[in-house]
Amino acid sequence: MKRAFIVFFGPPGSGKGTQAKMVAEELGLVQISTGELFRQHLAEQTPLGHQAQEYISRGALVPDEITIGMVRQRLQQPDCATGAIFDGFPRTGEQAAALDELLAELDAELCMVIDFTLPLEVSRARLLGRQEGRVDDRPEVIEKRLSDHAQVEASVMPHYRAKPGLVKTVNADRPIEAIFADVLALARSCLE
Ligand code: ADP
Repeated sequence: MKRAFIVFFGPPGSGKGTQAKMVAEELGLVQISTGELFRQHLAEQTPLGHQAQEYISRGALVPDEITIGMVRQRLQQPDCATGAIFDGFPRTGEQAAALDELLAELDAELCMVIDFTLPLEVSRARLLGRQEGRVDDRPEVIEKRLSDHAQVEASVMPHYRAKPGLVKTVNADRPIEAIFADVLALARSCLE
């Protein structure tokens, strides 16, 4: 069977995490959400959680070394053998380069990058309306995460846009089901 490794890229509040979860379940892939992994480490108070806490609570990126190490470990688990959806990773040029290397070690490569687009105002409204009790869902931290996203995009997307046909854009300013239909069809094409 074919393996599929796909990056879901988009601003906070774009719904990429929700879609990654739904698509991963539907296609039997693993969702690798670096934000979720960090939140698990925080909740379990692991050494890695302690290292990451300070950055996450002020909406800053966790240093590449920590983040990349965590993804490397996750990718070594046997459940990643059929593929994975990366959600919230990569967020820097170094992470993007590291992901290529990690996949090459598995004798695999990225099939697709799905770019979730939506207006800044919509992201902001969604984040302000979200009540998940996350340490970084305070208004001033939300503003930082939103404004930092432009920098994240400028660091990551040129790496992928350089590869013709790799990036697919999805309008994320629509109902969950409509987005899901498009994203699922795209992801499925990686397994054909
Ligand atoms: P959102 O996309 O809603 O901002 P995430 O759950 O993806 O939230 O990430 C939450 C926080 O976890 C980020 O603000 C950052 O501090 C940290 N984080 C997540 N992914 C990465 C990453 N790839 N590199 C560095 N830090 C990350």
